[in-house]
Amino acid sequence: MPIRFERLSPERVIVANTVGDILVLTQVEFERLIALDLRPGDGLYERATERLLVAREGARAPLQLLALRLRSRMAFLRDATALHILVVTLRCEHSCPYCQVSRRNTGAERYDMSEETALLALEVAMSSPAKAIKLEFQGGEPLLNFPLIAFAVEAATRMAEVKGKAVEFVIATNLALLDDKILTFCQNHHIHLSTSLDGPADLHNRNRPRPGGNSHALAAAGIQRVQEFLGRDRIGALMTTTDASLDRVEEIIEEYVRLGLDGIFLRPLSPYGFAMKTRWYDGYDSDRWLTFYERGLRHILDLNHRGIRFPEFYASLLLQRILTDQPIGYVDLRSPAGIGIGALVYNYDGKVFASDEGRMLAEMGDQTFELGTLGKTDYASLVTSERLIDLVGGTLSQTSPECRSCAYEAHCGADPVYHHATQGDAVGIKPLSGFCSRQKGILRILIETLERGGRDAAVLRSWVSR
Ligand code: SF4
Repeated sequence: MPIRFERLSPERVIVANTVGDILVLTQVEFERLIALDLRPGDGLYERATERLLVAREGARAPLQLLALRLRSRMAFLRDATALHILVVTLRCEHSCPYCQVSRRNTGAERYDMSEETALLALEVAMSSPAKAIKLEFQGGEPLLNFPLIAFAVEAATRMAEVKGKAVEFVIATNLALLDDKILTFCQNHHIHLSTSLDGPADLHNRNRPRPGGNSHALAAAGIQRVQEFLGRDRIGALMTTTDASLDRVEEIIEEYVRLGLDGIFLRPLSPYGFAMKTRWYDGYDSDRWLTFYERGLRHILDLNHRGIRFPEFYASLLLQRILTDQPIGYVDLRSPAGIGIGALVYNYDGKVFASDEGRMLAEMGDQTFELGTLGKTDYASLVTSERLIDLVGGTLSQTSPECRSCAYEAHCGADPVYHHATQGDAVGIKPLSGFCSRQKGILRILIETLERGGRDAAVLRSWVSR
């Protein structure tokens, strides 16, 4: 059967089939597999047959099973464009040096989205095939234009009812402007909140300056208020790893536990927006980040052993890919890539982008991922535009150099925006790609932990069964 492999050490090799079932073999076993030196009853034959790495000549059932499982894993294509991001303002009262969006100062109302633009965005969103739509409000700081959010939520609720769609709302906010009126609105419309939390106060405030230097205090108080008012499951937080975070992963995780958050997403800094302008991305090396990640995962596993249920969310996504055939909603871990067909972004000025990072690149003068302008286009023209088809079709990991023979391909994704931003080429030269080295590093850590079995593997498995 078609197989891919990756050497873990001179003596151990990971072998994977087309849907990512994995077997870790010794060099001797690997040579026997390649030479088809296998016999029923020798153990290796059974392990390799069960993982669909070998099949009897002419047997159709294993191929049909692989095809069926591949179709399940690709089911996200049937529900095109479930995520729609409305950038309701570029204004922000923070001035984070690593900011991935192009913020403007708080007085510049001309950077706010109008009601007319919001309605045009909602019409496009409601025309996408997905039956369940997620609308995410971003900025800048979106609460600076809260009246527009309230208008869009009410309009979207009415439109979704007419179209027979389910609609879910998320506001991505730093929580500094949260008040009871906003909380009541969120309660009445089942809105989720997503915030930024980079760790303990000194680290967070250094990463996220605002007048008064109180970003952490406001975020922590906001998290607590949302938990009390709306419920613990209605607030999540995202962190960004800066150079100053790299030696402090345990403290960052403990801060999340202290604030009652239900897990953490250990994220690297992305090469977009102000992170590039302010050169915070320079010298940011994936090996150092991987050490940070591995230490963090160790700390999280130990917390779980002490009875604190606390997953690392990126590992959970990858484990779902490794241990099940369920498609995942995360648009950066897909091939075909999630740009446009997984998410669309509507900027405050009506420009439509294939991804949030594509919008950030446009603010830096690179329009590669701009698909059109609201009012002059519709959903079908956006997702069938030649530009998008070229970008999605030209970057499939299933056929890209290096990826097509990579043992991790079934669990990875094409990330055309990252590779375009860092290498000027949407496919990218994977041996030089930070995305690729992080993926290989994390997948290797997870696969080796699962292989070793025991308590750590049991915790990783429990994050998926949830
Ligand atoms: S990006 Fe790297 S890890 Fe991912 S499939 Fe391609 S070669 Fe493999």
